[in-house]
Amino acid sequence: MFTVVTPNTDKRMAEIVDKVRQGERLNLEDGVYLYESNDILTIGQLANEVNLRKNGKKVYFIENMSLYFTNVCESHCAFCSFRKDQGEEGAYTLSGEEMVAYVKQHITPGVREFHIVGGHNNHVPFQYYVDSLKALKENFPHVTIKAYTAAEIEFFTRLSGLSTKEVLMRLQEAGLESLTGGGAEILSDQYREKMKVEKANVDQYLDVHRTAHQLGMKTPTTMLYGSIESYEDRVRHMLQIRDLQDETGGFQVFIPLSMQPRNKNASIMRRNSAFEDLKAIAISRLMLDNIQHIKAYFINIGVQLTQVALAFGASDVHGTILKEQISHAAGAQTPEGLTLKELIWLVKGAGRIPVERDTFYNELKVYE
Ligand code: SF4
Repeated sequence: MFTVVTPNTDKRMAEIVDKVRQGERLNLEDGVYLYESNDILTIGQLANEVNLRKNGKKVYFIENMSLYFTNVCESHCAFCSFRKDQGEEGAYTLSGEEMVAYVKQHITPGVREFHIVGGHNNHVPFQYYVDSLKALKENFPHVTIKAYTAAEIEFFTRLSGLSTKEVLMRLQEAGLESLTGGGAEILSDQYREKMKVEKANVDQYLDVHRTAHQLGMKTPTTMLYGSIESYEDRVRHMLQIRDLQDETGGFQVFIPLSMQPRNKNASIMRRNSAFEDLKAIAISRLMLDNIQHIKAYFINIGVQLTQVALAFGASDVHGTILKEQISHAAGAQTPEGLTLKELIWLVKGAGRIPVERDTFYNELKVYE
């Protein structure tokens, strides 16, 4: 029979394919081998098989709004173009009331999640961060509050003198229901030192999520790839996440975040290639057998590539967002948000079934 597919004669790859098909876990060497391979179609097909087994053809998204209370930050992470010093042009810190007014002006009736992140602003007390959430919850009680990265939580412990658990409980009382996944970058202390990641270290990042899971929260997690890290660093990052997931079961989704190019302090001059972005999605799907969803984040990789990523293991396309700021400050050339209609088009165009979800992946509407 005529076939255009070249038979795969790579023995090492064949071993990995067998392992995945038999439900065996991939190890560090397997992950690095996949990253070093250029056989993107085999890797993608395998990730697609795993995803179809886990999620069928369903692809999830949420109608949400990204909110940024402050861009003032005590840290100077080399890759960050969002932060400002207090008093610098463009620096801002919104009160709860100001944010409520902004939301009232822009919210659409379907929004069911606020996604809140910001700078580590030490010119305001911890109570400011508590009151910010309280103001939103009081005015929009039906909207889930997913707020603050693990790095922000670690900053709050220093700001307040409270323990991680106490900080999280105070925020929960104010309306916090889930953390955001950022702040992980690459979970390697050596990388963090080189990239001047002036925030939570590896153990602190993991410990905040562990504590949140122990308090009953489900959280997302991320990996910011595409700068100085090695393939081994990336795989070790995923293995640490996988180990914590074995312990707590609290991660709902893993989000590979493609580094954006406007990072003069980190000497990053180029965008990741589409090839690299697709491999990051597919290899995450293959390594993280205990996390339900891998997210393709259109803000960082673009709408068209997000569509392709759905055939490479991704089962989530984030949400409507409205107006993204952090990646756009770093040079993202993608839309700042998408409408519900556009998200449905994106998913259907890839031959998948769009499913509108809440923060906790409960299905709200299936667009057959
Ligand atoms: S990445 Fe976060 S902590 Fe680092 S400088 Fe930017 S806003 Fe501050």
